[in-house]
Amino acid sequence: MIRDPGVRRRYAVMGNPIGHSRSPVIHAAFAAQLHERIEYGALLVPPDGFRAAVARFRAEGGGGLNLTLPFKEQGFAWVREQGGELTSRAVAAAAVNTLRFDGDALLGDNTDGAGFVQDLQQRHGFPLSAARVLLLGAGGAARGVAPALLEQGVAALWIANRTQRRAQELVARFSDPRVRALGWDEMGEVEPTLVVHATSATIAGGVLALPAAAFGARPVCYDLSYARRSTAFLEQARRAGSRRCFDGLGMLVEQAAESFLVWRGLRPETEAVYRAQREQLDAA
Ligand code: NAP
Repeated sequence: MIRDPGVRRRYAVMGNPIGHSRSPVIHAAFAAQLHERIEYGALLVPPDGFRAAVARFRAEGGGGLNLTLPFKEQGFAWVREQGGELTSRAVAAAAVNTLRFDGDALLGDNTDGAGFVQDLQQRHGFPLSAARVLLLGAGGAARGVAPALLEQGVAALWIANRTQRRAQELVARFSDPRVRALGWDEMGEVEPTLVVHATSATIAGGVLALPAAAFGARPVCYDLSYARRSTAFLEQARRAGSRRCFDGLGMLVEQAAESFLVWRGLRPETEAVYRAQREQLDAA
């Protein structure tokens, strides 16, 4: 049974770092909106402590987890090992951001791609069909976004990553002629209409070393990260002439709504929650 309205169930996001996470506030807003009895916390887990932390949470009766950096790929491998069910979008991403525990049943899903598409296409009105996309990064988040882009009918998908081998491995997963790995120094050779930043380079205030050629055709730019007013990546893009720039706050809310649906069987309305998050972030 996904939900028993009489029982308060525990959920949490697990990651490292985790102090910045807005997920507890977002899920509390969803629960209030839908009158669902849940608790949602944030768990800081050491990089080598994933299995023990998940086992403990599950043994204590937890209903589900969100996994964030750096646990999405470990989460996928773990569900497989446990003989749990993986959704097609988790398999396509080879990464899991949502775990659901229901008695002995275990489900691994990936809601990042759906959240990204919902935000960029529906909220911001950018059509992905026929877009030419440069995706920066090949970690857990990029793995969720890449198959969703292909499913939406993009014309080309170039994947560039600091460690090029990981970009090549990700490309090889698709065997799709639209997808190609691109070296960091080859960005000037392509003319994307959309650049998606999915690295963690700027999370602790760092700057992503990008050639100016990445923004040569003044593409629409989307940063999976978010920050007060703007992000370092979007500032780089604006300086290079890009005018339509979006951060990942909307994706965060949308992927959370998809996770809520997986756990509780109900999809919350997201617009008011998104607007409240935007106001809180800008006021911080
Ligand atoms: P991850 O699995 O740890 O992957 C990190 C990625 O960043 C890898 O591709 C890594 O390249 C690259 N990277 C790290 N430092 C770099 C640097 N100094 N220069 C260039 N590349 C660098 O992390 P993730 O889960 O994919 O998360 C990536 C970002 O997306 C995070 O900022 C996260 O907060 C954000 N995110 C946002 C949402 C949302 O809902 N808005 C959802 C998911 C993720 P190597 O392979 O070379 O190490």
